Amino acid sequence: MYELMTPGPTQVSASVLAARAQWAPNPDQDEDFLELYHKTAQRITQMMGGDETFETFILAGEGMLALEAAVASLTEPGDRVLILDNGIFGGGFADLVRLYGGIPVVYNMDYRRPLDPIALDIYLRGQRRIKYATLVHCDTPSGMCNDIAAICPVLKRYGLLTLVDAVATMFGQPVHVSQGIDVLCGATQKALSAPAGLCFATLSPEGRAAIAERKSPVPGFYANLQTYLDYYEKRWFPYTMPAHDILGLAAALDVVEADEERYSRHALLARATRAALEKGGLELYPQGGYAETVTAFCVPEGLSDKEVLRKMREEHGIMISGSFDVLEGQVLRIGHMGENCQREKLVGTFEALQQVFTDLGFVPDPPLAENFQRRC
Ligand SMILES: *Cc1c(COP(=O)(O)O)cnc(C)c1O
Repeated sequence: MYELMTPGPTQVSASVLAARAQWAPNPDQDEDFLELYHKTAQRITQMMGGDETFETFILAGEGMLALEAAVASLTEPGDRVLILDNGIFGGGFADLVRLYGGIPVVYNMDYRRPLDPIALDIYLRGQRRIKYATLVHCDTPSGMCNDIAAICPVLKRYGLLTLVDAVATMFGQPVHVSQGIDVLCGATQKALSAPAGLCFATLSPEGRAAIAERKSPVPGFYANLQTYLDYYEKRWFPYTMPAHDILGLAAALDVVEADEERYSRHALLARATRAALEKGGLELYPQGGYAETVTAFCVPEGLSDKEVLRKMREEHGIMISGSFDVLEGQVLRIGHMGENCQREKLVGTFEALQQVFTDLGFVPDPPLAENFQRRC
């Protein structure tokens, strides 16, 4: 066992584990289950700032399923789709769009800077015939957070539907679907601190209409939001729902609801994390647009990320993360979301990191943990 200080999956809350160990109703035949599912989905909509015109569907699959189902359901052959690419997940949407017969129009920006709504506005003046845009709230591999509340309204002004991946932020920092989001994707294993296995898609009325009224069938059964659109009226799910997972999800939402300082704590501890690292001589990877759920910083010159991760885990019992794809070997990441977002856990992480860096010949000064504690 080790402490999971990774940016997902996170430590699962004790009450979620207990809820999943309960007896569960038959999800195919028991109306009580249908109501539990429906109510749980409505709670997510409300927590994301949506009124009754928005609707959330909970899908049985890890976060990537929500992204794939959203792209599969919105894309028709030949549709042009704007890919806002300032990170690995951001750029990754192009692959999904291609897979479903769409034509990605890639807006490629600096991976160390958040998307600029003014520059995007200027770019959009020269574009025609784009059906929807994809963007990521927090691009987890780089810790980059885009200001979706500023960007989505710009996209809407140009008549584009918006598909937002907020897997790494939902329930850790505020997300408001009413600020121009047509399809919002989230999942359980990040700030919600439930196990991987469920994901969500919240649709605006426009998002729903685009999916309901498309001309060609969605080319897939499982990665498909169309099959969910009237589940409640028909009292029928496209496949057997994992009832125990839904019980766990409901318990995770209870934790969020009872935690009144959740967003302010994430913001405070994220700020203290960044300050401790920077003052200690480390370089943050993002240059602006810092996420409140994860912090990415550059591997100090001459050190190996793998060696840092190994020593953290073997000598201190704490798992943090490196990164992947174009950031492989370049950055280290601390996840401070959901259950991980606790002052004492971060103090322990910084004490261990201080020791590991010192052993490897890089001495953060002032010491990380001390400095962190002074700031929160
Ligand atoms: C975690 C995450 C996902 C889901 O991806 P996995 O790598 O399968 O966990 C999707 N988008 C973002 C931004 C994420 O952080």
